[in-house]
Amino acid sequence: MKPAGVVRKVDQLGRIVLPKSLRKRYQMNEGDPVEILVQGDHIILERYRPKCVFCGSMDAVSEFKERHICAQCMTEMNHIPRHA
Ligand SMILES: [Zn+2]
Repeated sequence: MKPAGVVRKVDQLGRIVLPKSLRKRYQMNEGDPVEILVQGDHIILERYRPKCVFCGSMDAVSEFKERHICAQCMTEMNHIPRHA
């Protein structure tokens, strides 16, 4: 991790404005979901990408009944034997 060369103050509501240059560089647009991660004393912001509920993959994830599932797990599910 390296400093981005920016110091911002937290406002009364706990908000921090991300500099436009960083938003542009990391393609964060208005309304985009951002996930807040913590690591030791660090707070990390990451563009939110849904993960598969079964394997945690972020590749080819689609939504089904408000859950996220990847293409691989979807294929595997289609091969589960059905009991009548
Ligand atoms: Zn999966």
